[in-house]
Parts: sequence; C-alpha cells; structure tokens
Amino acid sequence: MKMKTMLAALMMVGALGAVSNASAQDKGLIGISMPTKSSARWIADGDNMVKVFKEKGYKPDLQYAEDDIPNQLAQIENMITKGAKVLVIAAIDGTTLAGALQKAADKGVKVIAYDRLIRNSKNVDYYATFDNFQVGVLQAQYIEKALDLQHAKGPFNIELFGGSADDNNAFFFYNGAMSVLKPYMDQGKLVVRSKQIGMDKVATLRWDGAVAQARMDNLLSANYGKARVDAVLSPYDGLSIGILSSLKGVGYGTPKQPFPVVTGQDAEVASVKSILRGEQRSTIFKDTRELAKVTANMVDAVLNGKTPPINDTKTYNNGVKVVPSYLLKPVSVDINNWKQVLVSGSGYYSESQFK
Ligand code: BGC
Repeated sequence: MKMKTMLAALMMVGALGAVSNASAQDKGLIGISMPTKSSARWIADGDNMVKVFKEKGYKPDLQYAEDDIPNQLAQIENMITKGAKVLVIAAIDGTTLAGALQKAADKGVKVIAYDRLIRNSKNVDYYATFDNFQVGVLQAQYIEKALDLQHAKGPFNIELFGGSADDNNAFFFYNGAMSVLKPYMDQGKLVVRSKQIGMDKVATLRWDGAVAQARMDNLLSANYGKARVDAVLSPYDGLSIGILSSLKGVGYGTPKQPFPVVTGQDAEVASVKSILRGEQRSTIFKDTRELAKVTANMVDAVLNGKTPPINDTKTYNNGVKVVPSYLLKPVSVDINNWKQVLVSGSGYYSESQFK
C-alpha cells in the first residue's frame, strides 16, 4: 500500500472510530439512582450497570443518595431535567417517589424499579429483582439445617431481625423466612425469648448495622442471663456484622461459647471473610452482573416499544398495580460452597480478595 493510501485508510478507521463513539452516546441518557455507597453490594450494582449500559451505547448517569430520601428525590428530578430517557431506581424509601415519577411520566420518561419495588405509583414500567421470598426461605433453611430442626428435640433459642420497613423487600425476606421457621416456633422447638416477632417489632431502619447491634445488645441483656442464643435470623450482611460484634461483647465466639448460627445476605467480602473465620455462618449471593443485564434488556425493550423478558406477573403488587417483573435466583453460600459459588463457578470475586 502506498503511503498516501495507507494514511487515508488510517484516517478512515479513525473517523469510523469517532462515528461509533458518537453513536455510542446517541442511544440516550439513562439515570441510575442507587441508595447508598455504604454497602459494597450497591457499589457493585452501580458499576455493573454503567458497564452494560455503555456497552449497549447508552450514556449512564449514576448517582448515589447516601440513604437520604430528599437527596434521592433531588437526584431523580435532576436526571429528568437533564433529559434521561429511562430511570433505573433502587429506592431508599419505596413509598416516597410517586410525585417524582409523575413528573417523569409527564415527560414520557420510563421507569424501572431496580431490586426494590417502588410503591404507590402507576408509573413503574418494570421491576428487575431476585426472588425475594426465596431469599428468606434460604436464610431460614440454613438455620433449619444447622440446628437439625427436623430431628433434634430442642428447644433452641432464636432472635429475629428484619430489614428496613420502608423497603418492600424486607417483608418478602421476613415472610419467606417465617414460612420455614414458624412451624418450629409453633411446636416450641424454636423459642424467641424476647417475644419480639413480626416486622413491626424486628425491623431495622435503613438497614443500619449499628441499629441492629444496639438492638442485639438489648435483647441479650434483657433476655439471656444464663441462657444461650442458638440462632439469629439476619437478613443482610451489614446487620450480621453488628449482631456478631454485640455477641462478641458478651463472650460469644470461644470454644466454650460458640457463636449462634447467624445468617446474612449479599455475600459482601467482609462477611464472606467472617464466614471463613467461622463467625457468620451463611449469606445469600445475588449476582448483580445478571441483574444489570436484565435491567439493560428492559431498557432496550421499553425504548423500542417491545415487551422485555418477564417471568413474574403476579407477585409484586405495588399498591396501585402489579408490576411485571423478572426475578433472578438467589444462592445460599456457606463455608462449604463459597469458593465454588463466588470464585470458580461465577468469577464474581477472585480468591485473593479473601486473603
Ligand atoms: C436488597 C438486599 C440488601 C438490602 C440492604 C435490599 O433491598 O435486596 O440485597 O441486603 O436491601 O441494602
């Protein structure tokens, strides 16, 4: 090739590159509103979504609201003003967004509820999440197996923790867990010494680990003089860390007084490490890469006037309508399968992250 032709060809390639870059931005702005950076799970969700949306040629605008409701509202309104075509929202408080979503709908902006259902609004097009009831079932089944509730005579002492009552998921987790535990409570094989049962008593505002730790301190000092707590239902790794440090504070975690069976959720690195140390006993892995993909497919579909893949049209009534949903499968993780599930099987983490 002559020098001139080569140069021309190179320029063509450059120009094509520029064209494809430009068109990469052309599919439009997608507002991604996440609740908080205080938990590793939401950071992973945000990062994965930015990646898939960019790959698909959208321009993602990712914002975190640091668990502050007015902050999240302001961020969402700002996304609408900036011309977002679709909003992907993991709500802090699922009941407070109706006004903002009406503004979005008036401008033709589509809305996808991400992981957490947005309640009391007709302006939610789709919901991408995991099977939240099943998360609770898996947490409780872990306790059932670890205490061998089907065969052992018991009674065993258990305390219950719920998530934030403004998060619809918290009820699904709790109800899923109760579907397994309640029969044992009715038989007297499982005893809640504090008598604190029901989401109105066991919820943890904003999923705050410090709140869970303070509640566990109180439960232990008020109800467990010489008695031992055998299991703690915890719906989220961040709460489990608080619960475990409360237990440590009164002497659990020794060969003579081992920790109770404490569950969790999200397979956050700190909690998987805790599992490896023999402290927390289980967690739930939710592959946020898959959730990001499902969400991006929903965005493609709504913008093209098509129906995205949906696998649930019954479960998630948000108070105004049943939101068509896609539910992914959660996976239970403990010391026996962590490497297979989190490292070799999925490549979600590398083994060195747990050193
Ligand atoms: C999510 C969980 C998470 C919790 C606390 C829930 O809505 O589904 O994965 O553990 O929020 O962030």
